[in-house]
Parts: sequence; structure tokens; C-alpha cells
Amino acid sequence: MVVVMAPWARPRQVDAVVRAVRLTGGRAVVSRNGPRTLVGVDGGAPDRDALRRMRGVLHVAAVDAGYRLVSREHSPERSVVEVGGVPIGPGTLTVVAGPCAVETPEQTLAAARMARRAGATLLRGGAYKPRTSPYAFQGLGRRGLEILADVRAEVGLPVVTEVVSAADVDVIAEHADMLQVGARNMQNFALLEAVGDRGLPVLLKRGMTATIEEWLLAAEYVAQRGNLAIVLCERGIRTYETATRNTLDIAAVPVVQRLSHLPVIVDPSHSGGRRDLVLPLSRAAVVAGADGVLVDVHPDPASALCDGPQALVGDDLHRLSDAMAELGRYMDRRPPVRPAAAA
Ligand code: PEP
Ligand code: MN
Repeated sequence: MVVVMAPWARPRQVDAVVRAVRLTGGRAVVSRNGPRTLVGVDGGAPDRDALRRMRGVLHVAAVDAGYRLVSREHSPERSVVEVGGVPIGPGTLTVVAGPCAVETPEQTLAAARMARRAGATLLRGGAYKPRTSPYAFQGLGRRGLEILADVRAEVGLPVVTEVVSAADVDVIAEHADMLQVGARNMQNFALLEAVGDRGLPVLLKRGMTATIEEWLLAAEYVAQRGNLAIVLCERGIRTYETATRNTLDIAAVPVVQRLSHLPVIVDPSHSGGRRDLVLPLSRAAVVAGADGVLVDVHPDPASALCDGPQALVGDDLHRLSDAMAELGRYMDRRPPVRPAAAA
């Protein structure tokens, strides 16, 4: 069962619902994102009518899905997640861009400027990289976070960066505006709980062999720790096809949007794994209804320490921003406004 609180509900009214549930032996978790406050209930609980009559309660829904807090069953209105003042969700089309890995201050600053040229309002770069090979570049770690924070101050784009271990959540949260959980960690439950506890917006990529239900249950792990500010990212799944790095599951966009109120963006860079596929896959994502795209850019892809072949460069940038602006209008979406700090 999910109790949907009114946007104007007072904290003490939420507390009263939680107390009422606990008094009857139930378990209650409160999850929030902006004006949305949900109380997830399981076990014994007062009857639905009694809960419905409590002050501040908008409605009470019996939700069968295991992913009850992130389900759309109780919240037909889709969510907007704000990242450092930049909205991701219905009505807007958000471009998130940056270098796959933070390598040097100069490379990161150049990539951030490129990201802006590509129409991005959020900068994404990896300081902690989950690499398939232990011999591959693992990221600059803490130094990379400092570079990201400096570049954020210079360019004015809020920062999204990946967290690969629960032990790093706090230090990363001090330097970033959104925490990315990558495909390889989609079912790292301790990590999901840690980013849920931290409360910063979370970008949750789909695991490469995860079903949509497993992906939504992973999001539920974050939500049931109180944090409903989650953006889902379809980044391609592993199939028998080897012509592309992964197979972009474009159907996942409308399917997930029907099942969940959370925003959904698409990563055409890791899906196709090739620069020439990024633009067509981005177009497909927007027309399928995605709330944004996440793309890699690099000032010198040939020398990139990670994922150079899929990084946009040069004319690719304005081609992407033009396509997003044009298709965004067609899909009734406006580009998000950069936060005031942006130059
Ligand atoms: C990344 O975003 O750089 C990354 C490693 O992607 P994924 O987790 O989707 O493989
Ligand atoms: Mn990458």
C-alpha cells in the first residue's frame, strides 16, 4: 500500500501517518522528491479509509508491484527530478554530457565547454571508473572530484559523477550534484541503500542483463531509504548482436514510463559504442519520449583514456543540440534553463 501525501502536507501530518501505521504493527517508509511525499506501507496497517481520512493525505493506493514507491499506479503524474536547479522530467528535454573519464583539468574544462555547445545543462564525468579490466584506467578518484568541482565553478554546470563503492558516497556527494550508479552496480544493494540514505539525486543506469522489473526494483532500493529523486537511464542491454556495443532497448522508454513515475533518459553513447550512432540513437530516444540523453564528449577522442570511439567532437556537438531543439519542439518539450550560476 502507498499513502500519497498532498504537496502541502505538513511534516507532522506525515509523522502522524507513520505513527498510525506502526501502531497497528505495520512498517512505514517515507520517501521524498521535491513536493512529492509517499509513505510506503507493508505489514499490518489501519484500514485504507482510516488512512484516507487523515490530514494531509491525498489518497491511498493498493499497489501490487514490488516496486511500489516508484510505481506509476499511485502517481499518474510523472516526476521531475531537479539536479542543482536543472529539471529532468516531463515537459523538458535535458542533455547531460561530458567526458567518460576525468583525465586532466584541461581536458575536463574543454569537455565541459563542449558539453555546453552540445546543449547540455548538466556535466557528467567519471572520477571513479568501473572498468572491465583491472589494467584499464581506473579514474583519478578524489583528485578527479576536485577537478570536477573546479570545472563546475568555472562553467556553471551542475555535476553528475559515478559512485562505485558505498564507502565513497560521502566524499563524492561533497563534490557532485547527482550520483550515478552504473550498469555494473545496478544490483549492488549496499550501494543503492547508501545513495538512498545520502539523499542527493541518483542516476540509475540499467544493468546490462537486467529486466525492466529488476531495474525498477533496484530503484525501489533507493526509494525505500527515503530518496525518491531518481532518474533512470537506459544504456543498452547485452544481446547476441555484436555490431553495436550494446543493443539500445528503445521500447524500454515508453514501457518504463508507463510502469513508473520516474524520469527516463537514454545513453546513446554506451548503447551504440560508436560516434556515428550517437546522433541517430539520440533522435530515436527523443521521439520515443525520453526525458533526456546522456552523451560522451572529448576534446581529443583518439587520446581518450576511456571510451574515445563513442565520444562526440567538433561538428557533432551542434548537430546534437540542433536535433534536440528541433525534435524537442516536436515532442512538446522545452530545453531546460541553465541554473543562474551558469555563465
Ligand atoms: C559510464 O557511464 O561511463 C559507464 C561505465 O556506463 P555503464 O555503467 O552504462 O556501462
Ligand atoms: Mn564510459
